[in-house]
Amino acid sequence: MNPAAAHSPLPPGATIGLVGGGQLGRMSALAAARLGYRCHILTREQDSPAAQVSAAVTVADYGDQAALAAFAEAVDVISFEFENISAEGLDLLAALRPVRPAPVVLRISQDRVAEKSFLNQAGVATAPWVAVDSEADLHAAVARLGLPAVLKTTREGYDGKGQAMLRRPEDLAPAFAALSPRPLVLEGFVDFAAEISVVVARGIDGAIAAFDTVQNHHRDHILDLTLAPAPIAPDIDAAAQAIARRVAEAIGLVGLLAVEMFITAQGEVLVNEIAPRPHNSGHWTIDACPESQFDLHIRSVAGLTLPPATRHSDAVMKNLVGPEEVALWPQILTAPGLIGHLYGKHEARAGRKMGHVTRLFPRGALPGPRAIAEALGPAAPRG
Ligand code: AMP
Repeated sequence: MNPAAAHSPLPPGATIGLVGGGQLGRMSALAAARLGYRCHILTREQDSPAAQVSAAVTVADYGDQAALAAFAEAVDVISFEFENISAEGLDLLAALRPVRPAPVVLRISQDRVAEKSFLNQAGVATAPWVAVDSEADLHAAVARLGLPAVLKTTREGYDGKGQAMLRRPEDLAPAFAALSPRPLVLEGFVDFAAEISVVVARGIDGAIAAFDTVQNHHRDHILDLTLAPAPIAPDIDAAAQAIARRVAEAIGLVGLLAVEMFITAQGEVLVNEIAPRPHNSGHWTIDACPESQFDLHIRSVAGLTLPPATRHSDAVMKNLVGPEEVALWPQILTAPGLIGHLYGKHEARAGRKMGHVTRLFPRGALPGPRAIAEALGPAAPRG
């Protein structure tokens, strides 16, 4: 593809290559289909959620260079729903086709130390942190940051995996033993008042569209409930939106990115992490917005103009996690007002995201927790 073609919009019928076969790829592929594109999925998994709804699939390991090259040759542009592809794999793909977001964006978000360094240099606040490579480093880091603190692997941690809470000095040795020899980072514990996130897209022309700030509730470290919009003060909302835009600009984003943030008891907004792909806390946009996060993902990757990320309704999104919650599907289908989404996963293991449910409310009419639980009926959060 010549450089000029790389910057013109992808024509209808073109093929978007998506690395990763999960539900984020599935919902991106559905959005791509509506915009007249085909998707080709690269995944390790047979019969993956994304491949079930896509035109083509390559089932291979992400380290299989020949498979990566053949995949790249078969598509017009490449994006991701799975971020942990190796640096060599990324370079190989980027040498053959436009990769959006660019490899540098993935490299930053793959590594918590690179991510926090980038954010702090961009003037974005995070929890205080110290890189940890040895047990001596850990003791020095705890002496600086104090306890409680959270020790995390710098790479490949998600949904609470690859991290340990340190409350007392006795916790240091077992936590270090469990997480090393991987590179680690110690973060000061944030006694947060709320967790929020913003999903932001940036087009090839630099135009930005950011969805409204949402509030997230986790259960067992896994996202359980998202409230859109977040019931937060306007100045905090404005700070969160400004941070998301700043991150998108500073990182040179072309694509879609989620910024996860903490609001501290003092009303400060700190970034926890960024994810350069559609995000679970943006699933509500499918039902509450004229164009969802998946539409904006595809539009930005395809070089199309971005529409404003407006919502026509307020919304609550509840994840369906594990066998117990997906077993509620028959009741969800018959409950008035519940909009169900299933991801086509065969095996409902504990902690696995199987689907989600959205409930819409008129704009400005998002109710309090009790009424939300009532409105979710059979899908109401447990405990
Ligand atoms: P992460 O894998 O970094 O997204 O962390 C998963 C969850 O752990 C977050 O959504 C928070 O609920 C919690 N968490 C992570 N880091 C911290 C921290 N420094 N202070 C308090 N809670 C944290």
